[in-house]
Amino acid sequence: MQPLIHLNVLASGSKGNAAIVEGPVGAVLVDCGISRKCLLERSAELGVDPSSIVAAVFTHEHSDHVSGASVFCRRFDGPLYATAGTVAARSYLMELPFTIVNARDAFDLAGMHVETFPTSHDVADPFGLRFSVMDSAGEELDALGWCTDTGVLSPQALHLLRGCRILGIESNHDRKMLANGPYPAYLKERVRGSHGHLSNDQCAEALPKLVTEATETVVALHLSEKNNRPSVCIRTLAAALDAEAANDTFTEARTPDGTLTICPAGQNKPLSVW
Ligand SMILES: [Zn+2]
Ligand SMILES: [Zn+2]
Repeated sequence: MQPLIHLNVLASGSKGNAAIVEGPVGAVLVDCGISRKCLLERSAELGVDPSSIVAAVFTHEHSDHVSGASVFCRRFDGPLYATAGTVAARSYLMELPFTIVNARDAFDLAGMHVETFPTSHDVADPFGLRFSVMDSAGEELDALGWCTDTGVLSPQALHLLRGCRILGIESNHDRKMLANGPYPAYLKERVRGSHGHLSNDQCAEALPKLVTEATETVVALHLSEKNNRPSVCIRTLAAALDAEAANDTFTEARTPDGTLTICPAGQNKPLSVW
């Protein structure tokens, strides 16, 4: 594949999420659960121009994904995309001029073809995404998969996330750390349930089905600060792909042939993937 799509994760985790996906003709903001100030600072840190954003997509209504939406939209004139369920769940979203999509949809943004698939989460109508760039013959030139905040991966999710050059996928918690950690029982149940969040083990189990020769980077998303550690996550994912530590702390891994890198996105450490 050709590097025509670039991923910029501004923040990922339960305190706020936002990513800028750059395509051939502009960029798409995926979720805005951070302040405008944070969005501008982190974009600058990554060298991304926020004025290149031509559309914003919201995956679901949890505040760590939409809390910054109103303020962002006050100075943004481009189209906003979300499901009817997501918009109806928050009064401040209902005031915005959304283009309603469904969780099994396809549309075009910023020179990219966007396909959505349902995720499994304790909200109204959430989705994940596959961004792709095609040539005039319909041949896929580049693709990026994005899937976070889901308790399980459906066959459709596995299908659309497979074979992307860049794969952003949730790896929220370590099962043992969650079980022995500080969360109350009901919250542990929620996180590990089928409408909660993917564990490191679940992500690792899926990776061999999703990674192909085309895959260059796997970005682990939405890591829990209490029930996970970057090194624990990356070690687990690396084992599933026969990758080895790429640094002393095992917070990055690479396959022996050097073709695939696995790294975590952080709550406070913005990350760009070309
Ligand atoms: Zn979230
Ligand atoms: Zn959520």
